[in-house]
Amino acid sequence: MYKIAVLPGDGIGPEITEQALGVLELAAAKYNLNYTVEEGLIGGAAYDVYGEPFPQETRELVSNCDAVLLGAVGGPQYDQLPVDKRPEKGLLQIRKALGLYANLRPIKCWPQLMDQSPFKNERINGVDLLIVRELIGGAYFGARGTDEVNGELAAFDTIEYTSSQIRRVVRRAFELAKGRRRMLTSVDKANVLDTSRLWRKIVLEEARKFPEVTVNHLYVDNCAMQLCINPGQFDVLVTENMFGDILSDQASVLGASLGMLASASLGDGKALYEPAHGSAPDIAGQGKANPLAAILSVAMLLRITMKSPSAASAVENGVQFALEQGLRTADIYTPGTTLATTESIGNAVKKKI
Ligand code: NAD
Repeated sequence: MYKIAVLPGDGIGPEITEQALGVLELAAAKYNLNYTVEEGLIGGAAYDVYGEPFPQETRELVSNCDAVLLGAVGGPQYDQLPVDKRPEKGLLQIRKALGLYANLRPIKCWPQLMDQSPFKNERINGVDLLIVRELIGGAYFGARGTDEVNGELAAFDTIEYTSSQIRRVVRRAFELAKGRRRMLTSVDKANVLDTSRLWRKIVLEEARKFPEVTVNHLYVDNCAMQLCINPGQFDVLVTENMFGDILSDQASVLGASLGMLASASLGDGKALYEPAHGSAPDIAGQGKANPLAAILSVAMLLRITMKSPSAASAVENGVQFALEQGLRTADIYTPGTTLATTESIGNAVKKKI
C-alpha cells in the first residue's frame, strides 16, 4: 500500500491536482495498485492557515509517506512577505526535508504540438530526453558572502561536491538510462573546474557497473549548443545543480508549453512529483489551466514510486489521446483545434485509460 501526500498549493495548483488525482485513481484501479491519499497544505495556502509555507503538520505528513504529489505555489498576494514566509520557500524546505537530491525533467516533443515550438520541426522531431540534475549541492548550497577586496565590495559563492553526493545522483541517472535507450551524457566543465574533474572521475567509476549504458562527456557550453543544434541525440543527461538549472530551462523550450512539462525529485526512498510550471495566478480558478503537466507527473509517480510502467504508459497514452482529439487549453491552442477546459482535458485522458 503506497502512501501519497497530496499538496495542491496555490493558484491553479488545486484544479490541476484534482485532474491528476482522478487520473491516478483510474490508472491505479486498472492495474490493481493500492494507495492511500492524504491532503496537506503548502505555500501560500499553508501560510494563510499556519503562518508558515511548510508547517510542522505538512512536514509530518510528508515524512510518513512514500511520495508527494504537489500542484504549485505562489501568488501576488504573498509577494510582500519576508523571504522566509514566501510560498516558494516551502518548496526549498520540502526538498531539503525529504533529501531530494535528484531532479528529473523529461522533455518530449509531442508530434501534435510541434508547430508551437520555436524550433523547426525537423530539428525536434522525436526528441525524448531526460535531464537529471543534482538538486541539493553545489553553488546554491555552498559557502557564500560579501567582503572587501582592495577597498572595493566583493562577493563570492563556492561550489563543493563530495564524492558521495556525486555518486548517488550519477547512479540514479545510470539506472534511469538503463530503463530507456541506454545512453548517458554527463555534462561538466572539467577543463576548468575541480568539482567537474571529480564529477567526471565518479561517472567513469560508476560506468563500470553499467556496461550496457553508453557514456559520453560534454562540456556544459557545448551541451547548451548541442541542445539547439541536435537535441534528438540525447537520451539521459546528468549534471550538477547550477548547470542543470540552466540547461533544463533551456531544454524546456523544445517542448511546446510549460503546461506540458512534468518533473520528479528523488531521494533515497521518497519522491516528490510536480509540474514544472508555477501557480499561474493570471488564469487561476477559470478552468483554463492545462492539467497535462500534472497528469504526466502522475505517470512518473506510477513508473518510479509505484513501479508500474504499464500504468504509467496508460496515462501517457491518455495524454496522447487527448491531444489527438484536438483538445487544447489556451497555452497550446492553435486554429483548427478545440479550446477545452481543464476538466474536459482530464476527462479525455481518463476516457482513454
Ligand atoms: P507560471 O509558470 O506560474 O506562469 C507563467 C505563464 O505560463 C503564465 O502566463 C501562466 O498563465 C502560464 N502557465 C503556467 N502553467 C500553466 C498551465 N498549466 N496551463 C496554462 N498556462 C500555464 O510562472 P510565473 O507567472 O512566473 O509565476 C507565478 C507564481 O508561481 C509566482 O508566485 C512564482 O513564484 C510561482 N512559481 C511556482 C513554481 C512551483 O510551484 N514549482 C514554479 C515557478 C513559479
